[in-house]
Formats: sequence, structure tokens, C-alpha cells
Amino acid sequence: MPKPLFITLLIALPIILGGATQNGWVIIIAALLVLAANPIVRTIRKNRYFGSEQFSALKSQVASVVAEHNDVVNYVAEIRSRGSFELGASSTGQHAHLATFENTSAWNNRRDRNVAEYAPHIHNASLQVIRNASQEPIKYLMKYFGIKADPATLADVQRVADDIARLEQAVGNVAERETDIAQMINPPKFIMQHYAAEFWSQVGVHLSPIDVPYPRYIFQYTSAGGNTGQSSRIDLNTPTLEALSEILVEKIRWTKSAAGQRALMTARLRKHIKHRDNYTCLQCGVSLDAEPHLLLEVDHIMPVSRGGLSVPENLQTLCWRCNRTKGAKVVA
Ligand SMILES: [Zn+2]
Repeated sequence: MPKPLFITLLIALPIILGGATQNGWVIIIAALLVLAANPIVRTIRKNRYFGSEQFSALKSQVASVVAEHNDVVNYVAEIRSRGSFELGASSTGQHAHLATFENTSAWNNRRDRNVAEYAPHIHNASLQVIRNASQEPIKYLMKYFGIKADPATLADVQRVADDIARLEQAVGNVAERETDIAQMINPPKFIMQHYAAEFWSQVGVHLSPIDVPYPRYIFQYTSAGGNTGQSSRIDLNTPTLEALSEILVEKIRWTKSAAGQRALMTARLRKHIKHRDNYTCLQCGVSLDAEPHLLLEVDHIMPVSRGGLSVPENLQTLCWRCNRTKGAKVVA
């Protein structure tokens, strides 16, 4: 709000509203609050803030941090587009498109509210199966979505788990950086409340979609008339994938094959490796001490695709920049 107007109000209002009594002050404060919340006043305040020298000084101060943030956002996009987030499929409804479905029931009381959906990740089943699936998700996931206990499937599950974990971590890292940038600039509260998108674009931050595309499996029951529907949903997030991997390994181990003896990549092992390597990139030497928001990843020295195992001797900590350029090359 322009200062002269503010001062005029301050002096005039108590006089108008019954002298400089306590009551008058309460009314002034209330009037000012109403004025501040006014959209037109708010737009003026916003424009003044974004146009201020203080804001542009802070903006140039955080420019390099913003550039680095945007680079990590691009990296997130790369993981998203190159990673694999697919596993298994249900065969119910595989040929559903070949048939024409019509409800010929003479009754028309709110029917067809629940229409069975056919998709690779949706299994249409009886109510009993839906209930069992929510009790024993992994068992039913394997049974109905064709996830077999064999070495190839285990490798697939581990690959998906690895990409999900990397993406989760990178997305978390971007969020931390954004919190940090907002704290460094520390804009007035109303800016983040009403003009968050404009704030980020003024600062030059490219926002990324913050969701992780977890493969989602649904067990679905739709009654014959479409009157009722129930479903149970399983998201393949890190805990689910780790549980699935463990069960697969147990089943494969039982067959005494070499793959069954394989160590699994887990969130715990990743943590352990980073700790072992002092949160330092073994290639370029940058550490979490030097860069508080450094995104560190655990890399297979000999890639899994070339037979590398998830054992401490074959794992190393790399910063995201080194890991990004490494690709499938072997760096010891
Ligand atoms: Zn590095």
C-alpha cells in the first residue's frame, strides 16, 4: 500500500470513527486487514514486490542455485523417460474389444453406474478375490498379473525398483532445493499464498511434475447389474517392490538356481553404500559436505545388464552428474 495513503488512513480513521479511542484503533486495524486482502491492492503489492530492487538482488544471488535446480529437473525428466515402470499384466479383458456389450435388463433403476474397466493393470475378479488381494497383495499380484518366480522376472522387478528408487530420490532432491530457494529469497507470505507460480517463474525455476509414476495394479469387482463395485489397489512403490523381490528370491532360492543366491538391491543397501563412501562421489570427489543438496546415487560398477551383482564390492557412490554421463560404461 502506498505510504501517504497509509498515514492518512492512520490519522483520519480514528477521528472519523469516534475519536482516538481504543475502539477506533480496532476498527482501523480491521479496515487495514480488509484493504490488504483486497485483490486490487494485492496485485499492486505483488507488482511492487516483484519490481523491487531487493527482489532482483536476491534473484541474482540465487541464480546459480536455480540453474543447478533446473538441471536436476531435466535429470528427473530423463530418468522418467528412460526408466522402466512396467511389470506384468492381467489377461482379463485382453480380447474384450472383440465383443459388444449391452445391458438388456428391463430394470432401469440406476444401473450401469459401475462399468467394468479392462486394462492391462486391472484384473476383473470375484468379490472374494478382491478381498483376498487386499489381505495378501503380493501373492495375488503375482498370481493374477503373471509375475513369475524366475530369474528373468526378478531382474525385471529389480530394474523397475531401481528406477523407482532413483526417481523418488531425485524428485525429493528437487523439492528440497525448491524449499531452499524459497527460504533464501523469503518472499512475503501473501506471495506464496496467491502468486506461487508467478514467484517461481520470476525466479526462473522450472517446476517439474512431482509425482512418481508408480505402476498401479487394481483388482476390480463389478456386480452383474453394475449396481456395486469394489476394488483393491496395489501401488508398486519401494516397499512393495522390495517385498516382491524378497518373495521372488525366496521362491527362486528354493529351486537352488544361481539367481536365487543373488543379493538384492534395497533401500538399506543403498544407504549403507553412501555411508561407506562418506557421502562422496568416488569419481569426481564432490561430497555432501561441500554441496548440501548433492544428489548422490548408488551405481553398479559392472552394470546389472552385464551380469554385475548388487553386492558392496560392485557398488559405488556417484554424484548425479557423474552417473548421468556414465550411462552403461564401466567405471572402476
Ligand atoms: Zn561426481
